[in-house]
Amino acid sequence: MMVVSEAVPFAKTGGLADVSSALSVALATLGHDVSLVLPRYREAGGAGEPAGRMTVTVGQVPYEVGLYAASLGRDVRVTLLDCPALYDREGLYGADGRDHPDNPTRFGLLVRAALDLAAATEGPPSIVHAHDWQAALGPVMLSAGLPGLERLRGSASVQTIHNLAYQGVFPLGCLGALGLAEAPGVACTLTHKAGVSFLKGGIAYSDAVTTVSPGYAREILGAELGRGLDASLRDRGSDLSGILNGIDVDVWDPATDPYLPAPFSAGDLEGKRAAKRAVLECYGLPTDEAALTRPLVGMVSRMVPQKGLDLLAEISDDLAGLDATFVVLGTGMAEYQALWQRLAERHPAGVGVHVGFDEARAHLIEGGADLFLMPSRFEPCGLNQLYSLRYGTVPVVRATGGLADTVRAFDAETEQGTGFVFTEYSAAALMAALRTALAVFGDRDAWRRIQAAGMAEDHSWDVSAREYVKVYRRAVASVRNGADGTAAQGGAGSTRSE
Ligand code: ADP
Repeated sequence: MMVVSEAVPFAKTGGLADVSSALSVALATLGHDVSLVLPRYREAGGAGEPAGRMTVTVGQVPYEVGLYAASLGRDVRVTLLDCPALYDREGLYGADGRDHPDNPTRFGLLVRAALDLAAATEGPPSIVHAHDWQAALGPVMLSAGLPGLERLRGSASVQTIHNLAYQGVFPLGCLGALGLAEAPGVACTLTHKAGVSFLKGGIAYSDAVTTVSPGYAREILGAELGRGLDASLRDRGSDLSGILNGIDVDVWDPATDPYLPAPFSAGDLEGKRAAKRAVLECYGLPTDEAALTRPLVGMVSRMVPQKGLDLLAEISDDLAGLDATFVVLGTGMAEYQALWQRLAERHPAGVGVHVGFDEARAHLIEGGADLFLMPSRFEPCGLNQLYSLRYGTVPVVRATGGLADTVRAFDAETEQGTGFVFTEYSAAALMAALRTALAVFGDRDAWRRIQAAGMAEDHSWDVSAREYVKVYRRAVASVRNGADGTAAQGGAGSTRSE
C-alpha cells in the first residue's frame, strides 16, 4: 500500500506525483498487488466513484471520511479520502506562500485512514510504503502499537525520501492531537529543531529507507545536504539505499506525445523542428529562419533556490547576451518570477517566460528546446533531465544527486556523453558550461551524437521497480525475523516485533 500526498493524475505539485503513480503501475505490471491512498483535494476535481464512508479517529477526534475509488493503469486500486474540512481548499500544502496551519492533522488523517483501511482488508498489505514527510507517520504509527492497528503487526514499512529539504517540522504539541504523545519513545525520537519532524520519525521507525538516487543517498549522510537529519540517516546504515527514479515512458514519448505538433524519434528528428517552432510561437517569440536556427534553451522548474535560480539571477544579463533563445516555465518565489518577467520584457525576442503550472507547455518545451537547463544546488533525482534525454534535448546540469547519476558529461576528446555538466555551484561555472554547450551545438555531427546517445538510454520504471521489490523483500524479512525473535533489524525499537 502506497501512502502518498500526491499522485498523477489526481494531484501534483512536483516529481513526487509522477513517481508515486508510475512506480505503482510498474509494480503492478511486475505482478504485485498495489493500492494507493491519497487525499481528495479540491484540485482532484471530483475524481473517483463513491465507495463508502468510514470514521477515522486521529488522537481523540473522529473524522467522517468519504472513500472514493479510482484506478491507475489497469491494476492499481486508488482510494481518495474525502474530508472537505481538511482537503477542500486552495493548495495541497498551503496557499499564498503560507503552509496550512493544520497540516499535522491533514496528513495525520491521511496516514491513519490508510492504516485503518489496510487493517480492514482481508489480507493486510505486506508493505506500507510511506512517501516523504506527509506519509512519514505511517512507520511511526505502525511501530507505536496504536489500538486498532493490531492486524498490521506483520506489515513492514518503507520510507522514501523524495526531498530531504521538506521535513514536516511542527510544534511538539501536535503529537498529543495525533494520539502519539504517550507512545513510548516517539516524542524523543521525533524531536527536531525545537519541535518534532514527521520525516525523522519515518526514517527512524521504518524497516527500510530509500531515496531517489544513489548519489543523493550518499550526499544526505553529510552535514550540508543532511540538513540536521544526517545522523538519523547514518544510524540506519545499510537500511538506507538510493534507487533512481524512472520516467513514465508512455506519457513522455516524443513518438506519441499528443502535446507535440508532430511525432519524432532518434531516427527522424524532423518533428523536433516543428516543436521548436511551436514553442517559439506559444511564447510570442520570432519564428523566422534565424530564430529556428539559433539554439533554444528550455527550463521547466519550481522557482526556488534549490533549482539554481539564485545563480541565474546573478547572470541574467549575461544570459540574455548569449546567442541563444530562452524559454522558461515555472512558478515559485515572487522575486524569481519577477526576475524572469523583467528579463523577458527587456529582451522580447530572446527570452520567453510563462509563470504558471502548465503540463502541455512542459511537454512542448521538452520537445522543442535544443538544450535544457538544470543548474540545481541539490537535486534528489530530477525528472526533467530524464525527459530531456528522451526528447533529444541536451541537458546542461550541475553535478549533484540524481543529475550526476543520470547525465554523462560530454567529453570533447572522445565526443562521448549525453549532456554538459558543471561541478562548482557558481554562476561562472554555469556560464562556462552553457558556453561550451552552445559551441558544441554549432557542430551538427557532434550534437546529433549527443542527442542519439541520450535518446538511446532506457530510463523506464521497469529496472527501478525491481530494485524496490528487493527492498520490500528485505523489509518483510526483517519484520519476520523480528517476529520470530531473531535478528530484529528494524528501526527505532519497533514494538511490533516485541
Ligand atoms: P521537483 O519534484 O523538485 O519539482 P522534478 O524534476 O523531480 O523536480 O519534477 C518536476 C516535475 O514537475 C516534472 O514532471 C516537471 O515537468 C513538472 N513541473 C515543474 N514545474 C512545472 C510547471 N510550471 N508546469 C508544468 N510542469 C511542471
